[in-house]
Amino acid sequence: MKDICCGIDLGTTNSVIARLQGGIPHAIDIEEGQAIVPSVVSFDPENGQVYFGAQALNRFVAFPSHTVKSVKRLIGKEQPITVGDATYLPEEISAMLLKHLAAEASRVLGQPVRRVVITVPAYFDDAQRRATIRAGELAGLEVMRIINEPTAAAFVYESPAVSGEGTEELILVYDLGGGTFDVSVVQLRGDIKEVLASCGDTALGGDDFDERLKEHFLELLQQRCDRDLSEDFPLQVRLKDIAERTKIALSVQPFVAINEVAVTVIDGEPVNLAVEVGRGEFEEMTEDLVEQTRRKVMEAMDEAKVVAEDIDRIVLVGGSTRLPAVQDMLAELFEQPMEHSVDPDLCVALGAAVQAGIITGEPLRQILIDVSAHSLGTRTIDEVDPETGDADYFSTIIRRNTRIPVTRSEVYYTMQPDQKRVEVEVFQGESPSCRDNTLVDSFRFDLRPAPIHSPITMEFSYDLQGIVHVTVSQKGYGNTKTVAVDLKKAKAAAKQAEAGASGEPELADKPVNYLSQKARQLLQESRLAATSLHELKALACAYEAAVVNGEDEDRVDELEDQLVALMDALEEERDNLG
Ligand code: AMP
Repeated sequence: MKDICCGIDLGTTNSVIARLQGGIPHAIDIEEGQAIVPSVVSFDPENGQVYFGAQALNRFVAFPSHTVKSVKRLIGKEQPITVGDATYLPEEISAMLLKHLAAEASRVLGQPVRRVVITVPAYFDDAQRRATIRAGELAGLEVMRIINEPTAAAFVYESPAVSGEGTEELILVYDLGGGTFDVSVVQLRGDIKEVLASCGDTALGGDDFDERLKEHFLELLQQRCDRDLSEDFPLQVRLKDIAERTKIALSVQPFVAINEVAVTVIDGEPVNLAVEVGRGEFEEMTEDLVEQTRRKVMEAMDEAKVVAEDIDRIVLVGGSTRLPAVQDMLAELFEQPMEHSVDPDLCVALGAAVQAGIITGEPLRQILIDVSAHSLGTRTIDEVDPETGDADYFSTIIRRNTRIPVTRSEVYYTMQPDQKRVEVEVFQGESPSCRDNTLVDSFRFDLRPAPIHSPITMEFSYDLQGIVHVTVSQKGYGNTKTVAVDLKKAKAAAKQAEAGASGEPELADKPVNYLSQKARQLLQESRLAATSLHELKALACAYEAAVVNGEDEDRVDELEDQLVALMDALEEERDNLG
């Protein structure tokens, strides 16, 4: 049976094995359908069994002295690791991980995996590289090549078979994982890839972000219980886990409500953790960590003798690059949208698989990834342009080039006490002003009476069919509404309502039915406020487009109901004006 050559990202926190298939790299789902395997080994002294990945990680709390994590930090050092009564060299533990990855991949693929390409950080010295090769050999594998992680990441975006002759590109690879941070400037020239500069911090990563939240929770509990809980080891482990989950949730939603029961026991009584954390608060706690990475980026560019404008592309690697604060910092520094079109957890392994394919002479194909072609967001009127007095701010919810499917949410605030409704307008485009973007849909969301500045959460869920489910909720009032926006149909509708010079949606030449005729009459009513007329026009446009495009009945009915309700409200408003 033909053996295959795989690429392995042997990470500090997680590892991934991938292969080239039909010219395209694929990560292999080896652990219960998961490609991402925690780089953890746990030993059971009772029966001599060895556990790997998620199983090993789960044993960490109960058997910390028999479980080994982050061995990559020690590789290349003559520093034995004690596990119960036994001692191992770091490369021996790494060998066990590699053997497990290759054996599981063989099982899934039904083909032997004997040859591998393994990635290492660009800053690894000779001893660390040699120890990694030894680990592969101890695992019974033929290590075809050791390649730098940023080079592997660059391979995924620009494989030599795809890039034309003579193309030259400068890529900045920003890799923020669980425990380490690396930034490299890579030059691509045809099929030559050169790391011009690389720097980082081997003790900075997602764990530090978790640690800040964990300390915050610990502080709260200590205050509440009036006790020093810093020596309570199981509590530390539990809080760290809650902190990581909270951090991950905050990457896609503005608030997280934590309700964890019995995080510890004091005087025989369980202690619960109930607290809400906002993204802004979390970003304040961790601002200096993001800033440290920014400084390293500047350092790498200095070393490579390039400036931000010289960089053609930013490649994000590592799970922590999903932090919005990291993306915002980079977007500001490089004045370009961030590249997240390949899963940042898989990118390095996929690149290693491309390299493995090149070595074995397999044909490569252009990698096609589904990404959002435009940014999606909504109009907010709480920010007024000081120069023009315009309140036309485009608030981005899903950035351009984000891999889909994706769900993102943001929070906005009401502008009046007992505000009756908000007009939700969904725009597509890259301009900070809605006027220059395309209105793809709008609908009205009726509010329950609430004080001024009450939060309204808006969630966009973009699926592979090109449908965006927009969910608006009035936080704390159980008031929610979801509308499905079909971007393909909306595009056609938007064309019809395409802006004249003003960028306003335009009604078609003729009314489409009696209701649209009535809406047009009401639009002539000069006594009504400009914002009300704008709202009416946008809704009438959306309704007419839905009728003309033959959208499904529920959608047309929904818009009809909204239009009737709005017209009733405006007629009342007009009559009250006398
Ligand atoms: P890696 O070492 O590349 O596997 O990255 C692991 C790190 O990424 C861990 O610290 C995770 O908590 C972090 N991470 C994973 N997903 C997210 C997310 N959505 N937002 C923020 N951090 C994340």
